[in-house]
Amino acid sequence: MLRAEPHFAEVFASPRARMATAEEVISSMEQDEVDTSVVLGANWGAPERCREANDYLLESAARHQGLLVAFCGLTPGDTETAALEIERCAAAGAMGVGELRPDVMGLDMSNEATTAPIYRALERHRLILLLHTSEPVGHFYPGKAGMTPETLYPFLLLHPSLTVVCAHWGGGLPFYALMPEVARALEHTYFDTSATPFLYRPQIYNHAIQMVGEDKVLFGSDYPLMPQRRPISEVRSLSLPQRVENLLLGGNAAKLLGL
Ligand SMILES: [Zn+2]
Repeated sequence: MLRAEPHFAEVFASPRARMATAEEVISSMEQDEVDTSVVLGANWGAPERCREANDYLLESAARHQGLLVAFCGLTPGDTETAALEIERCAAAGAMGVGELRPDVMGLDMSNEATTAPIYRALERHRLILLLHTSEPVGHFYPGKAGMTPETLYPFLLLHPSLTVVCAHWGGGLPFYALMPEVARALEHTYFDTSATPFLYRPQIYNHAIQMVGEDKVLFGSDYPLMPQRRPISEVRSLSLPQRVENLLLGGNAAKLLGL
């Protein structure tokens, strides 16, 4: 099945890459004392597989109410159909869409006419859009592609009221928040910390929090790429003020998700 999905063939070429069942996530959460996990959809190439995976995420979140929050994948193909899938998932309890890789989905995020149905559906249901982002420089890894600060920033300017979470620290966009106009454009933009141990030195937490604000950084693990405990221990070793650590490890996410 994975071989029939070009994107998965790329990402899962790494021996570290895994997929997890809902039960594995729950057991990891019990071990590492995680209250709630946001489980994300993937970028499937076939609409029927995308819908099947979305159903699994939504059923798992319904079965483990309060423990799992589902974000859904977008069906590939025309954006009117993708918008219908957003409607269907929102009705079944999805709280967001993502982790979206527009490059894999063949979506030109700067083309307002094509993508309008998607944004209308997101805004109608007040859903969060979680985007995969990458650094424009540095070492290569499977998945280092797609949106970088250069394409992310104009996209955010086009959709100022959309709540967007930029995965993996927005590929470095927080550093540009030192520019006043960029900071203004990030009013509804958040950054998640997923995969940090593979990407940055731990100083990133302190620096980025100073640049975008303590309320804008959301802890993410990238589980099952690594155990949840690894980045949690990293955050706990930083000696952040307790209040800031609490916001990072869940307070900000709970507020954003209305938990
Ligand atoms: Zn990602």
